[in-house]
Amino acid sequence: MPKSPWSTPAPKALRADGVDVAKIDTSATPGFKGDKKVGEALLAERREVLSDLQEKLYANGRSGDPRSVLLVLQGMDTAGKGGIVRHVIGSVDPQGVDHAAFGVPTAEERRHHYLWRIRRKLPRGGQIGVFDRSHYEDVLVVRVHDLVPPAVWEKRYDEINKFEAKLVDAGTTLVKVAMFVSLEEQKRRLAARLDRPDKYWKFNPGDIDERAFWPAYHDAYQAMLDRTCTDHAPWHTVPSDRKWFSRLAVTELLIDALQNLKLDWPAPQFDVDEQKRRLSRA
Ligand code: ADP
Repeated sequence: MPKSPWSTPAPKALRADGVDVAKIDTSATPGFKGDKKVGEALLAERREVLSDLQEKLYANGRSGDPRSVLLVLQGMDTAGKGGIVRHVIGSVDPQGVDHAAFGVPTAEERRHHYLWRIRRKLPRGGQIGVFDRSHYEDVLVVRVHDLVPPAVWEKRYDEINKFEAKLVDAGTTLVKVAMFVSLEEQKRRLAARLDRPDKYWKFNPGDIDERAFWPAYHDAYQAMLDRTCTDHAPWHTVPSDRKWFSRLAVTELLIDALQNLKLDWPAPQFDVDEQKRRLSRA
């Protein structure tokens, strides 16, 4: 078998314990020795593996298995969350995906606890859930912009850890991914959106204002990683200046989560030989 271009498996190379956000090299490819060409070729292969595993998860869910996988995507604007949804999640059967994006809370959502809207979108058994932004916005944007007093967001880290522990106990594997791009790369990506009519829809003038808050976001991301990277639901930091790498990395993290479920095809609820005999006579 040819040697893998991963010198350290992605789940280990990217695990966020002890990460210093200010020191993340956003153009690095931790654990991966190959270049873009190697990465893209591998991604094509690994998408197939992911797709097969997802089908098994779905099949088991149809037979009553309560287990699910939840991909939580956080990242600054332009970090590539949408690309992960399109290029990684896009390789699996959409029937098996529960996707949810969390933006500025609606009037109704604001009347409830911040986890209310999250609970309503949790994946059902057999599904891969995808959160494009998540409950972590309530300790990121909310903290950076003083949307609630510090005493309120301060309590949320422990609350989130308990919430996630319950999810894990109920059979959900969390794959938490924090994507990081450099300020310069973000500028390039925003400029590209302004250069192309087919990208205007992705541009939000507010994204430029958010750039001034970069240091405050770094602090908020640091606190999030320090306080919510738990053994039951660890964070992974994914350098995302190179899109091919972030997509490959998240694919590997999902494959690992699914493989850890040790899924088999569900046993038939009928006698196969008898059904073959019946079919031959039908
Ligand atoms: P995106 O920018 O991901 O394409 P949207 O245009 O819907 O998606 O924007 C999402 C915006 O909603 C982001 O600026 C994000 O910070 C904000 N947001 C998400 N959750 C919250 C929250 N709980 N409180 C305030 N703002 C939030």
